Amino acid sequence: MRTKILFLSVLILVSFSQFSFTGPDNEADKPFVVVLDAGHGGKDPGNRGNGYKEKDIALSVTLKVGEILEKQSNIKVIYTRKTDVFLELHERAAIANEADADVFVSIHCNSHHTQAYGAETFVMGLSKSKQNLNTAKKENEVIFLEDNYEEKYVGFDPNSPESFIGLTILQEEYLDQSIMLAGLIQNNMVNNLKRRDRSVKQDVFWVLHNTYMPSVLVELGFLTHKTEGPYVNSKKGRAELAKEIANGVITYRKNLLLATSDTQNPIITEKEIDEAIEAAEENLYEGVTFKVQLLASKNKLSTSPSKFKGLKDVERDLEDGLYKYYYGNTSDYNKIQLMQTYAKDNGYPTCYVVAFRDGQKLKLSEVLKSGEN
Ligand SMILES: [Zn+2]
Repeated sequence: MRTKILFLSVLILVSFSQFSFTGPDNEADKPFVVVLDAGHGGKDPGNRGNGYKEKDIALSVTLKVGEILEKQSNIKVIYTRKTDVFLELHERAAIANEADADVFVSIHCNSHHTQAYGAETFVMGLSKSKQNLNTAKKENEVIFLEDNYEEKYVGFDPNSPESFIGLTILQEEYLDQSIMLAGLIQNNMVNNLKRRDRSVKQDVFWVLHNTYMPSVLVELGFLTHKTEGPYVNSKKGRAELAKEIANGVITYRKNLLLATSDTQNPIITEKEIDEAIEAAEENLYEGVTFKVQLLASKNKLSTSPSKFKGLKDVERDLEDGLYKYYYGNTSDYNKIQLMQTYAKDNGYPTCYVVAFRDGQKLKLSEVLKSGEN
């Protein structure tokens, strides 16, 4: 019953929001172009953890992601490769730029000499952590297989990502959007497939360097790990991971449409949301704190309402070298859902709910599965 009441109030709020989808040049008319990039190929097999071939897994997951996206209305999918061919890193970016793509998603599998495991999603930037596993270095090494690489990558030594400092990072402009897309994909893999969360990170991936659009690189998991390798390689694993990546892209697009509809004049007022929260039944999870993650940024921003589109009591936390900005702080799941709706309507279309216990981030799906208290 309590779910029903909440559902109704959310429904009313959402249906109000729909009225803002008006205007002759609706963004929804333009196709949303997704460039999917299967890592490696041809003479570059990628990593060979457990005897698997990264290039084959990356390609089959990429094709499955495309298959799902192509079924969506008004999404156009372009592949950098659909077969086992070798492509230079700069060619991949050029395909995306030429297509004037809305997003670029590069798909890979990780490897390490230890039993490291988990999924992670990267955006372009200088690594904040010295303790990385040099994933970027490994993914950039393909440059050595290219002809005349010294001329093509002037000033960049794949063995030393630090050599990148001083080169222009074109991706800076798209960083916030890249982080949003990365967050949606990463959360899907972690929450829905119970992958270990290695989180969203920044590092120097040459394939992302030259694209003029939000761009992410997904590391599905470690082929070298004793159980993760076989999972990522399996038919089931490939299909499940593809579905979560595709859904991340779909949510990102939906949220963008919502954001461009009318962020200047939010449909839901503060008074209305307060009343909805007041009216909603409590749905408490003892010891758990829910927050709405508004954005992640490398910039330390002021948390005053004027900087956050009027949202009050925004909290800032430094995690993995990125500042995370949260709205709301409650044990009531119904309340946080309403706050998320409000934040979405106020210009944070890609915000999502996260859960904490004793300062540790928990998987939302597991918190919710543990049942209502
Ligand atoms: Zn790779």
